[in-house]
Amino acid sequence: PSPPYLQVFDLVKKYGTFSALDGVSLAIAAGEFISFLGPSGCGKTTLLRAIAGLDFQTSGSLYQDGADISWLPPDQRDFGIVFQSYALFPNLTVAENIAYGLENQGTKKHQIAERVAGLLNNVGLPGAEKRFPGQLSGGQQQRVALARALAPSPNLLLLDEPLSALDARVRVHLRREIKALQHRLGITTIMVTHDQEEAMTMADRIVVMNQGRIEQIGTPREIYENPVSVFVAQFVGTINLLPFTPCGPDTVEVAGLKFRCPHSGRHKGTGGVLAIRPEDIECTDVHDHDANCIDVRVESSEFLGATMRLKLVQGPDLALIADVPIRALRGSDIRPGQAMRVRLDAERIRLFDEA
Ligand code: ADP
Ligand code: MG
Repeated sequence: PSPPYLQVFDLVKKYGTFSALDGVSLAIAAGEFISFLGPSGCGKTTLLRAIAGLDFQTSGSLYQDGADISWLPPDQRDFGIVFQSYALFPNLTVAENIAYGLENQGTKKHQIAERVAGLLNNVGLPGAEKRFPGQLSGGQQQRVALARALAPSPNLLLLDEPLSALDARVRVHLRREIKALQHRLGITTIMVTHDQEEAMTMADRIVVMNQGRIEQIGTPREIYENPVSVFVAQFVGTINLLPFTPCGPDTVEVAGLKFRCPHSGRHKGTGGVLAIRPEDIECTDVHDHDANCIDVRVESSEFLGATMRLKLVQGPDLALIADVPIRALRGSDIRPGQAMRVRLDAERIRLFDEA
């Protein structure tokens, strides 16, 4: 296999005694679309800025395309960057904004004009050369910022929450366009986001961060289906978290009920948290004691289109969120207070040691 394009080794960034990055290591292959995902303040921007050389790490090292770039200033590194705030020069035209980095490279005038036109085509703004940033919508300004970042043909594209300032509709549209552009150019890309849906829909692999550390690295599907911790499970998608105590082989007790979970992993210890996704709880007629079937009452329901999201309760101690496909309800109505029988899919239960 080819060596990684970008490597980060044991990166630490301290502000006084506080560690914004607390020993981060990762490797990114050429052409990958990576997302740094995590709550506000977990260190995503700090890591991105260290990769760009905009802030230096306290310790640790960085390699890009085989070269040690750990202490190179940003102008000697190979990247383009886009920030959440478009950061365009308001008094320069779109073309001048995009060409800004090229003029420093000593590119000829007609070549610059050609390059700018090509870039504007690529970001879906053909012919916008003479306009000023103030005449453009947020989404259009971000397209210009993207064109500007790509102008010097970098081999690494860094995006720090590029869509966070935009309306929901524009955001979803630009997600697809950026992904398509990245695919077309084959450029190695890192996008910082706190939006799990954005990371899930765009990234080849997601780096989930928490308090200056990497919690998990994996494809969106791996992260969703096999979260390594309660933190990851909770941060990506919706999940039921229920305190359990162990109760014999393959069996745990939750709120006085026994559940079998033979494929839940190597759980040891005195107890922890049982995790199950809403879509892994299904309506059933089965009355099998061993099959994780329980009687519940519908407390409330939300119609989500393809599914109905149900809040189910049994007594005061057990509450579950279940997503039931509308088809599975066979036209019958769901009313609060109604009795129902559901099955927790044993194959899909995960156990975590954390309390
Ligand atoms: P994120 O991008 O994940 O929201 P940041 O990387 O911006 O988080 O920040 C990580 C942590 O480092 C935060 O707690 C933030 O307050 C702190 N931090 C960032 N920059 C500085 C700074 N210049 N001085 C002190 N603390 C900082
Ligand atoms: Mg940030």
